[in-house]
Amino acid sequence: MIQVSGYGALNANASIAPIQFERRELGDKDILMDILYCGVCHSDIHMARSEWGPSVYPIVPGHEIVGKISQIGPGVTQFKVGDMAGVGVFVDSCRTCPSCKKGQEQYCDEGFTPTYNGYYRDGITPTFGGYSKQYVVDEAYTLHIPFTQELERVAPLLCAGITTYSPLKYAGVGKGHKVAVLGLGGLGHMGVKFAVAMGAEVTMLSTSPSKEKDAKMLGAHHFALSTDQDQMKALRGKFDFILNTVAAKYDLNKFLDLLTVEGKMLLVGIPPEDNELGSAKLISRRRSIIGSNVGGIAETQEMLDYCAEHDILSDVEMIQMKDINEAYTRISNSDVKYRFVIDMTSL
Ligand code: NAP
Ligand code: ZN
Ligand code: ZN
Repeated sequence: MIQVSGYGALNANASIAPIQFERRELGDKDILMDILYCGVCHSDIHMARSEWGPSVYPIVPGHEIVGKISQIGPGVTQFKVGDMAGVGVFVDSCRTCPSCKKGQEQYCDEGFTPTYNGYYRDGITPTFGGYSKQYVVDEAYTLHIPFTQELERVAPLLCAGITTYSPLKYAGVGKGHKVAVLGLGGLGHMGVKFAVAMGAEVTMLSTSPSKEKDAKMLGAHHFALSTDQDQMKALRGKFDFILNTVAAKYDLNKFLDLLTVEGKMLLVGIPPEDNELGSAKLISRRRSIIGSNVGGIAETQEMLDYCAEHDILSDVEMIQMKDINEAYTRISNSDVKYRFVIDMTSL
């Protein structure tokens, strides 16, 4: 086994602190990557604190990982030592169900193997995430990094990027569409960038008045305060799509009102407490809600290549590993511009 240093939590109430754990020795198709950067997703907080149900402890979060390959198994063909590589939200799946065969491993019938907070296919070996020095991963679940610079700004693409790119692509968002992005955090800021790049007219809906200037800088054409009743009233029936990234308790129905007839809400935020749905809001205007979970490996590669082509990167605040608990507090207070990324050399 390979001994690895990382940062993790021993239970739902513990802070994130130094931890030692083991990863498997390299198999035939495995690569070993030395982690350079790891983004901090709100899902890390939900899971570290068991906000979505009991997590697997000890937990080492982190699923926006960029690193340099330092070793490869004998059967590896797609990567070589020295290559930059990425790991996102999952590191394996059954590989045989219809979704896996379609390259939509995120919807695997047997459930994907999460990068952390879960078990490998044997059902007993726990997975540990990217708040650590090294990761061992099958090359089939590893991404090529089509960037040579600013790799810290690439890391968040592995979750925040694909999670917003995938539903916008699936919905066919493009020129002539009015799109609202709800919540300007890690996912929201990538959602704005992608929706603008795809040609839509984009409105940022935020609870934070202080974010208006940044929303425009990120490319949003308009900004509205979702806490202002008059502004919300004026936007009723206006949006073809709402990309919903809210991470905390809120009133979902208030935002369904903003959709056109046949408008669609693309739902990606997963607050710990579920919302009550007012069915009439959907039925009276043939509106729908489409849930979406990250993206498959092929689509994640497509998204990375799209970002390289369109010059899209995440806007990040760099932190040292030891400052992770403070970062969690700030994210929970909607105070991040717009993704924290850990410099893993600080571990
Ligand atoms: P984040 O950086 O914390 O951003 C969430 C934003 O939501 C906040 O910045 C805030 O923006 C807004 N918000 C917070 N509380 C709110 C409230 N009470 N009412 C309305 N808006 C509120 O989080 P993230 O990393 O982007 O993740 C967002 C959510 O998506 C999390 O629940 C995460 O677990 C989930 N997620 C899902 C997937 C998936 O595959 N579906 C993947 C990754 C993450 P404003 O200040 O602009 O209001
Ligand atoms: Zn995530
Ligand atoms: Zn499968």
